[in-house]
Amino acid sequence: MIAKEVIQKIRDVVGQAHALDSDLDRFGYSYDASFVPLFPPSLPDLVVRPRTTEEVAAVMKIANEHGIPVTARGAGSGRTGGSIPLQDGISLCLDRMKTIIELDEKNMMITVEAGVRTGDIYNVCAQKGLFYPPDPASFKYSTIGGNIAENAGGMRAVKYGVTHNFVMGLEVVLADGTVINTGGKSIKNVTGYNLTQLMVGSEGTLGIVTKAILRLIPMPKYRNTLLLMFSTLDGACGTIHQMLQSGIVPASAELMDRTCLNAIAKNRKFEFPDTAQACIITEVDGAEEYEIKKQGEQIETIAQANGVVELRVAKTAQEADDLWAIRRALSPAVGALAPDRVSEDISVPRNEFPEIVRRIRKIVDKYNLDFAVYGHAGDGNLHPSILCDMSDPEQAPRVHKAVEEMFAATLELGGTLSGEHGIGITKQHYLKDALGEAGVVVLKSIKKALDPKGILNPGKMWLEEETVHD
Ligand SMILES: Cc1cc2nc3c(=O)[nH]c(=O)nc-3n(C[C@H](O)[C@H](O)[C@H](O)COP(=O)(O)OP(=O)(O)OC[C@H]3O[C@@H](n4cnc5c(N)ncnc54)[C@H](O)[C@@H]3O)c2cc1C
Repeated sequence: MIAKEVIQKIRDVVGQAHALDSDLDRFGYSYDASFVPLFPPSLPDLVVRPRTTEEVAAVMKIANEHGIPVTARGAGSGRTGGSIPLQDGISLCLDRMKTIIELDEKNMMITVEAGVRTGDIYNVCAQKGLFYPPDPASFKYSTIGGNIAENAGGMRAVKYGVTHNFVMGLEVVLADGTVINTGGKSIKNVTGYNLTQLMVGSEGTLGIVTKAILRLIPMPKYRNTLLLMFSTLDGACGTIHQMLQSGIVPASAELMDRTCLNAIAKNRKFEFPDTAQACIITEVDGAEEYEIKKQGEQIETIAQANGVVELRVAKTAQEADDLWAIRRALSPAVGALAPDRVSEDISVPRNEFPEIVRRIRKIVDKYNLDFAVYGHAGDGNLHPSILCDMSDPEQAPRVHKAVEEMFAATLELGGTLSGEHGIGITKQHYLKDALGEAGVVVLKSIKKALDPKGILNPGKMWLEEETVHD
């Protein structure tokens, strides 16, 4: 509970209308897209929606003085429970900070406030022939602050990289309200520790990102988008692997299994051959039309050797967008297949992609579980989804065992727990397995140095009993 006079102090900073404490408002900020089943739900005491960096700094100062937990929030589209206020306190939602401050065409950089939606950044840049490539499937509603905090990936990561590859500088409010600026527009910068990249992927545990300077590149002139159906999942995986081996660097290469195809067909007009067991949507892009056409033909040849049963090539930009709309619709469609979906975000070295798919299949078969697999296969990032009913006391333990074995197999192949969704609440049990005891101690020491009272997003990333705060 936050004392009445402290709530009033916060209201004096952000205004009455932007510090909400009705049950309904509090409930609306108690969950994210991970749908972690918390009973009872973890409600913030107060939802605060600041408009400026100064307001964020003032609120943090008050919170720090009174030891009030603060959980940053963008759009709440996170998949690992990151914006759930586990220890109540303040849900600090940055959604009113949505100004595009500057599009610097000369330096090819954009400066934005943390609450700007990823898709809006893309659109504003595209109008000037500039390109901000990171494209989480949630890009229409996720915020850049949330993308930075999770180091979000997306479909174009295989060629262009993820959010961290584009963050040049940040304005960050620290736990005690101090405002720091990291990095900047200089391409080369080795002045002190790289605090910009320390903040990227820190899941709201080290500071509140209020502004970001992002690098842009010229918009590729041409793109060639292909949808390929295969008679086996192995054939689809093999095609992606051989494509990459042959020197083709696709902008995206997305994989979906038969369960995913069925899920999409349930929700939209989408036909596919009976013999199709898997599908790839891939895109090559570039400055020369003949080059991407040639690469499309090469992909076709590789696919023929791997049992392709249908090939669609987009002839217009609209057709390409329609093919990508299939992929963007996938996650909710898969989610609707069962009462619960336990979806992971593992990432393996690219050459191990076919092997991890085979191993995961064996694991879910062993525990007799329904399952869908899709992911950013071009960069080795997979979202295996167990379709289940976690309220079934007989099924839930099997799901837990299967997840445990999936992570073990991933680590054994040199992979990692999360490619893009972060650790949050859902993977904190496994953090030590991935980083080792010493690695977790380093994380905790950094946290303690920047947030000695432990008020920023407490209870996340590592297990609570492992916390370092007194
Ligand atoms: C349908 C669907 C598809 C998705 N597809 C992808 C995908 O392809 N790739 C991908 O990477 N992710 C994907 N996601 C996950 C999610 O959209 C990303 O993690 C996104 O970056 C979260 O942004 P958000 O604004 O919703 O942040 P939130 O969910 O609100 O917060 C996420 C984390 O960031 C912290 N945070 C938020 N804002 C700030 C800030 N300003 N300063 C400091 N910390 C902050 C929060 O405390 C929390 O820990 C998908 C989600 C959905 C629902």
